[in-house]
Amino acid sequence: VLLSGGIDSATCVYLMKDNGYSVRALTMVYGSMASRELDAAKSLARAARVKDHRIARLPDLKEAADIAGVRFVGLPATYVPMRNSIFYSYASSYSEEVGADVIVGGHNSEDARVFRDVGPKFFASLERTLWAGSARLEARKTRLIRPLEDRSKAEVIELAASLRVPLELTWSCNRDGQLHCWKCPGCRARRGSFQAAGIHDPVYPVRTGKIS
Ligand SMILES: [Zn+2]
Repeated sequence: VLLSGGIDSATCVYLMKDNGYSVRALTMVYGSMASRELDAAKSLARAARVKDHRIARLPDLKEAADIAGVRFVGLPATYVPMRNSIFYSYASSYSEEVGADVIVGGHNSEDARVFRDVGPKFFASLERTLWAGSARLEARKTRLIRPLEDRSKAEVIELAASLRVPLELTWSCNRDGQLHCWKCPGCRARRGSFQAAGIHDPVYPVRTGKIS
């Protein structure tokens, strides 16, 4: 399971465990990724007692916001050019090494509307490419799967709650810091999705008993 430290990938870890899989986690650390997000991935991997947690570092891989002189039309500042071709290629190498049956990505239905490299066409084609490049992956029929592809973010949160995912360990903020900032796009999306799901976010600060 590609584990970022966010809610979707954490839900995938617990979903696969729930389905009886022995789970290994792979975290790709790139460019300006918040160090707090890597800490979250480590905490989640530990909490889920995964069989192994591989951390791959690609410091030169940048987000669109950090690339000067290029405009990526229709894509958010957090877009990483061809991110998934790189992440899933690395995952395929790890899978060939350990003999994995499935490579799991936590992309929800909202992601697929924004990013072309999250769509079914991309994954079907990449799976064929990986099998063409590896007799071991082809013999094992190692599949690329996206179990959250039909779920909205709010529906993923509902699933996470039912699987008892430790949501207090997840990180959604685009900035670094001890606490979520609740102002950046990552935080705003998280807040909105929890509200839509009607579930209390354990990391959202609750102010009780005081009238300001
Ligand atoms: Zn934030």
